[in-house]
Amino acid sequence: MKSLLTILWYYLKTKYIRRFNSREKLLKWQDMQVRKFLKEILPKSQFYRDYYQGLNIQNWQQFPIIDKFIMMGNFDKLNTVNIQKSAAFILATQAEEKRNFAATLQGFTVGLSSGTSGNRGIFIVSQKEQQAWAGTILAKVLPQSILTPQRIAFFLRANSNLYETVKGQRIKFAYFDLFDAVENNILRLNQVNPTILVAPPSMLRLLADAQLKGDLNIVPNQIISVAEVLDPLDEIYISKCFNQKLQQIYQCTEGFLGHSCEYGTLHLNEDILAIQKEYIDEKAGKFMTIITDFNRKTQPIIRYRLDDILTERKSPCPCGSIFTAIESIEGRRDDIFWLPNQAGEGLIPIFPDFIRRAIIIASEDVQEYLAVQKSPDLIEISLKSSVELQSAVQNLVHQSLLDLFVRSHCRIPQIHYTQYVNVTEHHKKLRRVQRVFPVSSIS
Ligand SMILES: [Zn+2]
Repeated sequence: MKSLLTILWYYLKTKYIRRFNSREKLLKWQDMQVRKFLKEILPKSQFYRDYYQGLNIQNWQQFPIIDKFIMMGNFDKLNTVNIQKSAAFILATQAEEKRNFAATLQGFTVGLSSGTSGNRGIFIVSQKEQQAWAGTILAKVLPQSILTPQRIAFFLRANSNLYETVKGQRIKFAYFDLFDAVENNILRLNQVNPTILVAPPSMLRLLADAQLKGDLNIVPNQIISVAEVLDPLDEIYISKCFNQKLQQIYQCTEGFLGHSCEYGTLHLNEDILAIQKEYIDEKAGKFMTIITDFNRKTQPIIRYRLDDILTERKSPCPCGSIFTAIESIEGRRDDIFWLPNQAGEGLIPIFPDFIRRAIIIASEDVQEYLAVQKSPDLIEISLKSSVELQSAVQNLVHQSLLDLFVRSHCRIPQIHYTQYVNVTEHHKKLRRVQRVFPVSSIS
């Protein structure tokens, strides 16, 4: 009962109490929240205490940053509840292998973050933090009031009891494991008949196919894309099949970062996190975020840099929200293509979003694609289109990519084309644009 009250409290607080009518007020409030938070956390976290030694809390916005590597390297001293990384890791790995996520460590939920590059992170949260998270997410995402009955179907790579928090009378959560066979998930989905469907876009795309074929027959009020970059190509396809706009949640283990408004624009959740920008190309509006979560006390996230590249929206969103509007989430910094410049003396970055758009804009007949940079001089493009248009589509895509590379002043790489093969391992994250060789000289 107490847990439901906490969820409800955070729901109400997010939805009705925390209202800001200017950015100035928002930033001032954030500043106060962070200072208050630091005063409470620094005595409890040895890592942060040492890291910020001699620095004044007033200047927290300039404090040295951390990232996943630093966080994992200092896990034992960073968390405030004396949990050892080794113990947390064993528990989380076992849970994932057995697909049983009920176990906790000293009463805390432990989970593995889905590191795409092999360096998996560990996260720990308290019961109260889970409830706060649940309440906040419901406030941001539910189309109607919390009192309206909902059946929410949630596709996940790994369940943690994080997601089982929300199980009230009116709101029913059905969890679907991405590791299960797709046919089984479709059967169960028909039985659950969700009002809200939440899944990564690659899974939504399969479900859209099933819906078209008639194997799946659901009429959700709302479809929410999570956990992967939502490619415009997939967005259009899924929207068409289900005949509705997609909503997007931008969330990772580090925090619930953003969600789309009624106009489909993604806004950052600056009422629950302080989000600073580190520009990598200011003219193009591309930046990485440095987040400070002033609600999370078990494993504090302070001035933490995420790997994702975001592009800011140039024009204000018609919804009038004062929260930063995002044009697109590009993907990870590690997926930027790096091509030699014309003299062959240095490398030039090509953002994933540019590659993505060059391919999609080339032809309306591109159904699916994958773009992989395999070496500084080799890019492999896999394309799916109708059989009779295959070579025409390939020519158009080729020309569009050449234009992009010429515009970017880089040496034209070799471009190999292959047939697109449908992804069969649905628990793996789909990244349509990826780089598979390391670029060591780039920070
Ligand atoms: Zn908006």
